[in-house]
Amino acid sequence: MLGYSDMSNRTPVLPTTSNVRAMFPVLTPAQTSRLRARGNVRFVDRGQVLVERGEYTARLFVVLSGEIEVVRPTATSEDLVAVFQPGMFTGEINVLSGRRSFAQVRASESGEVIEIERQHLMTLVQADSELSDIMMRAFILRRVEMIARGFGDVILIGSSHCAGTLRIKDFLTRNGYPYASMDLDHDDGVQELLDHFHVSIADVPVVICRGEVVLRNPTNRDLAGCLGLNDAIDETHVRDLVIVGAGPAGLAAAVYGASEGLDVLVLESNSPGGQAGSSSKIENYLGFPTGISGQELAGRAYTQAQKFGAQLTVAKGGTRLTCDRKPYAVEIDDGARVPARAIIIATGAQYRKLSVENSRQFEGAGIYYGATFIEAQLCVGEEVIVVGGGNSAGQAAVYLAQTAKRVYMLVRSSGLAGSMSRYLIRRIEQNPAIDLCVKSEIIGLEGTNHLERVRWRNNQSGSMEVRDIRHVFVMTGAVPTTAWLDNCVTLDEKGFIKTGPDLSSDDLAAARWPLTRPPYLLETSLPGVFAVGDVRGGNIKRVASAVGEGSIAVAFVHRVLQE
Ligand SMILES: Cc1cc2nc3c(=O)[nH]c(=O)nc-3n(C[C@H](O)[C@H](O)[C@H](O)COP(=O)(O)OP(=O)(O)OC[C@H]3O[C@@H](n4cnc5c(N)ncnc54)[C@H](O)[C@@H]3O)c2cc1C
Repeated sequence: MLGYSDMSNRTPVLPTTSNVRAMFPVLTPAQTSRLRARGNVRFVDRGQVLVERGEYTARLFVVLSGEIEVVRPTATSEDLVAVFQPGMFTGEINVLSGRRSFAQVRASESGEVIEIERQHLMTLVQADSELSDIMMRAFILRRVEMIARGFGDVILIGSSHCAGTLRIKDFLTRNGYPYASMDLDHDDGVQELLDHFHVSIADVPVVICRGEVVLRNPTNRDLAGCLGLNDAIDETHVRDLVIVGAGPAGLAAAVYGASEGLDVLVLESNSPGGQAGSSSKIENYLGFPTGISGQELAGRAYTQAQKFGAQLTVAKGGTRLTCDRKPYAVEIDDGARVPARAIIIATGAQYRKLSVENSRQFEGAGIYYGATFIEAQLCVGEEVIVVGGGNSAGQAAVYLAQTAKRVYMLVRSSGLAGSMSRYLIRRIEQNPAIDLCVKSEIIGLEGTNHLERVRWRNNQSGSMEVRDIRHVFVMTGAVPTTAWLDNCVTLDEKGFIKTGPDLSSDDLAAARWPLTRPPYLLETSLPGVFAVGDVRGGNIKRVASAVGEGSIAVAFVHRVLQE
């Protein structure tokens, strides 16, 4: 008996045997003895609690004899989540990040276990590739299963028509955080429950966090605070490398930096993934012939960075770079200063907003800047609009056309040839559910709490179209996220950061470049501060180039740290 199960009969309910084996592997005696060398062997009594629910999970257990079970309390009793028998090990991704445990771990039979502290586990996964593969795969599969089953400690009560609900779903999903949700519009009795607790419509969404704290329409930062997502991180000590932004460029820098032995902290103002995280399917990234969703790519990169020991704070952005003395520091939302010997700026770009007067009113309630599974679920069987003629708009149109009734694709230019990859143009042309409207732009949005109607104009013929459309996806490019840099580094005329050979001698003189050497490739006008990905002047706007730049910058960080 092993794996996730029902409390009622303790029977595993996983779909395939191969999945069960990868999720709950039984280690060989040789593998177990390598783990024994990293931990302490101890005896545990039946019923003894090894990790309390909500406790920071700084260790895992390998069962030598006896049995360990993982349980979650419910309103009336408890759910049995998993059972571990001799040769099996406990834990999931939280052990790597040092975050709170979702469940209680206890001995269901007396016996012997190896207890391994987090720091010894981190050393092990970096040094022993066989055990690293087995453990990482098990941790990831266990987390995926928990997400699929809503096995977390968060209940989200909201409405699919509400921008706040969408925001929190997005935040939890992008952070790979399991949660269960209840929809006010579809689940009977939910409204009654809210009325009972005097929760008004303005308080929606409501989040029940860790089964005890009730948050009313929380910000992402409130939620991160309640879930303790950043608690295991010390922001005060001077890091070798602080990376600002956890899109593809920042995550790549974190993976390379941490794997090469640097003490790395990543600061992310929202959740990992960046723009790529809002893509339904990236098909041109090397090594993924059938494509990969941006969220999956980011989730894997996040876990990979953690495996090598990088730390990542979420919902805490850099608000100012202090560059007047060394070590430089990044000031963050809560007022703290994070000092660093070297900094990589990977803050990417933000979507350009729709330039229609009242568009802000409908953001998250009919206007979206990403087209992932979450948004696609909102518009099944409905007509939708995608605005933009680049690759991200093309991807969104093709993806949404799988479930929407019709996709109107509005572009200002006379066609897609100048702005979109050939493979996407072909798919759009061949898809009967997509209507390409060239030389067209939205001129009016109507609705009260949610978008109800859209008006657009053909700028060539002057003709107008009005349709009852409730969902508009805006994919019209992005502007660099550099306002927070406080003039510490030289920007180009469009606000992107200048680096390496793009910095002229005049730029360097104006910035008072203090060294005899010129800036390294990707180094800004401030020595030891690098810029990578979409925030950098002359960037290529590709996941692959962002990832490549993140890895290249780390090579130069090593040189700076030796200077
Ligand atoms: C819908 C869509 C589809 C796409 N599809 C493809 C594709 O198929 N193939 C492809 O190659 N490219 C694609 N792209 C482009 C690709 O996603 C980007 O080029 C890439 O994400 C850039 O990575 P980045 O890390 O430089 O920046 P970003 O992805 O923009 O990430 C920047 C990160 O920094 C964070 N941040 C911003 N300011 C701060 C701050 N002050 N403090 C802390 N954190 C901050 C942001 O929250 C974000 O997480 C797509 C883009 C979009 C929008």
